[in-house]
Parts: sequence; structure tokens; C-alpha cells
Amino acid sequence: MTTTSTPTTTAITHISQLVTNDPSLGEGPLGLIQDAAVVIDGDRIAWVGASSKAPATDNAVDAGGRAALPGFVDSHSHLLFAGDRTAEFNARMSGRPYSAGGIRTTVAATRAATDEALHATVARYLAEALRQGTTTQETKSGYGLTVEDEARALRIAAEHTDEVTFLGAHIVPPDYADDPAGYVGLVTGPMLDACAPHARWVDVFCETGAFDGDQARAVLTAGKARGLVPRVHANQLGHGPGVQLAVELGAASADHCTHLSAADIDALAQSDTVATLLPGAEFSTRAQWPDARPLLDAGATVALSTDCNPGSSFTSSMPFCIALAVRDMGMTPDEAVWSATAGGARALRRTDVGRIAPGARADLALLDAPSHVHLAYRPGVPLVSAVWHKGVRV
Ligand SMILES: [Zn+2]
Repeated sequence: MTTTSTPTTTAITHISQLVTNDPSLGEGPLGLIQDAAVVIDGDRIAWVGASSKAPATDNAVDAGGRAALPGFVDSHSHLLFAGDRTAEFNARMSGRPYSAGGIRTTVAATRAATDEALHATVARYLAEALRQGTTTQETKSGYGLTVEDEARALRIAAEHTDEVTFLGAHIVPPDYADDPAGYVGLVTGPMLDACAPHARWVDVFCETGAFDGDQARAVLTAGKARGLVPRVHANQLGHGPGVQLAVELGAASADHCTHLSAADIDALAQSDTVATLLPGAEFSTRAQWPDARPLLDAGATVALSTDCNPGSSFTSSMPFCIALAVRDMGMTPDEAVWSATAGGARALRRTDVGRIAPGARADLALLDAPSHVHLAYRPGVPLVSAVWHKGVRV
């Protein structure tokens, strides 16, 4: 059959508590509605309101008193990789020295991997994230670090998600160890030429041991000139110029933000640059937690993301990040849920996701719990019991 199917309408009724992230639709910043219903028409939200007032639809799903929220928006991951770093993690957590090359190990394995293997890896972790409620996923290159391998990573990523980031400036690869300036020239020249058509964003790891402020500026400025929007790995391991550079260049987000000065917090609060916190990285390296409280109190926009990657944060679970943010980063459950949904959407400059309101994309997660607060209250429990992605129940 080649007929096009007519979009059908579905009502999800008896949602005990619905997070809309639209204050005009309900209470507080989360726009909470008690005993709510949502109507999906094709791939869009058509109606939101009290369950008792839901309009007639083609199909109906009774949520049975469970809570619902927008699908998670995970704005930072590194899924284009091959190889395994279990031994490195095990050694780190066992207090044993480990001499293998960290990111370099993954670079070598990724260069050696077939296209099919990389496709399978991206698909696997996207599916894993989707089962846990993530309906929008950004992902990056950064384990190829040659013109060919970076372009290949982005081409493959773009077949799986719209949110693709060029991270040729992840580290200086071993082949350029004696010539970092030459590598920056490659990234801002031929590599950018090959990669820009496949990406929306340009990113740089601005950190001691990776790229300094001047090098990061060169990478981001070149990317901007090719129509890519900057985002920055900033202030993860120590104080540095990353956050200020992100704000100055109008980056969509400054990611990590673990070590911030008062001036960094102020700059973020005065800007449209989202502070994206990635607690999986601190968990997996036993590092100091980022502190969300001063950022939120200053008025900065905060997003939460997984940083899913095989070296420093091998989790695809946004609920896990919410629980960590509440337990260890000074966030309230409401703030953490907002940051994992609407905050991620801000970090990706998206208005069609991260909220449940008429016209938004029909992405939502139903929890086997009466409230979104249970995401932090019941850590480690697989509470996401149903997911709709682009209007389709997955
Ligand atoms: Zn990262």
C-alpha cells in the first residue's frame, strides 16, 4: 500500500500531575496541571487541560493516575565512538593507577571501526535513552580527529539526530602532539570545510591540556563564519576562560561549569548562554560537583545533560542526572526536572520540544509514579513506563 495515513488523534487522560513547562497552562514554573489530559494530533500536541474537559478523539489512553512530563532533552553527548574503557573506569574507582590513553584509546578504536559499527552504536544508545524518556538527543564528533574521520562521524550522526555538533577540537591528537597550532589550523580549515555541511553546532574542549582560550576562540569563530552556532566545554576541570568566551561569542551553552568564579556566574546570568551541568562526569570521576544554586539564584538558565561518553560519563539516563542534581548540586526536584526538559531545549535553542503545549512536538514520558518528584525521590528505579516520540508511542 502506498496510501498516506491520516493523522489520528489520541487523548491521554487521568494524568495525576502533568508537567507542561508552560506557566500559562498551570501552576508555577513547571505549569503543573492536576488530573490532566493531553491530546496528540499526528506528531503534535493539540490540546492540554483538565481530564474532565478533554475533547473527543479517535483513540484514548488512560494514564491511570500516573504523572507525565515532556520527553527529556539531552543536549550533550558523545555517541560516535568505538572501543571499551571498562578497565580504565574500574582502575579509577579502585584507586589503581591506569596508564592507557583516555580519549586517545577511544580515538584509535573509533578510527578503526566500520561505518556499520558506528551506526549500530549510535542507534543502540539512542534507543537506550529513548526507553528512559529522552526524545531529543544532541551528539558530537570528537573521536576521529582527522578530516575524514570527523566528517564520517558527523555524516553518521546526522542520520540519527538533527542535533549534531562538530567537536574536531576535542583534544590535540597524538599525530599533532608537537604541533598544536598546526592542528588548530586543520580544524579551522579543511576539517571545518568537510564537517560544516553535516553539523548545526561547533564545540571546543577549552581546558588546560586541551585547547586554551585563544585556540578555542579561533575554532569557534571559524565555525561561526561557516554558519555553525558555538557551544563550549568550559570550566570542567578548573577555572579558565571557557565560560567568558562562550558568553562573549554568543554560544548556545557553556557545558560543565563546575569551576566558576563570581564573574563567570554573573556573565552567564546576564546572557542567553545556558549553563549546562553534567553530573554524570563528576560521578564517574569522583570529582567535585558543579553547584547549581549560585547559578539559579543569579538568574542563569541551567540545563542538565548526561555527557554520555565511554570515558568519563557512561550513562544515558536523564533520571539519574536529575537525582544527582537534587542530591548533590543544590537543585530542587522541580528545578532539576525543568532543566532536564525545558533547560535542554533552551540549550539547543528549540521551542518545539521540552514542553507540553499546543503546537509543541508530541514528545512525552509517562511515569510509573504519581508525581515528577519521584524522579529524584526514587533514584535508580526505572519509572519511565511509556514514551511518545513525535506522536508515536514507542
Ligand atoms: Zn562532553
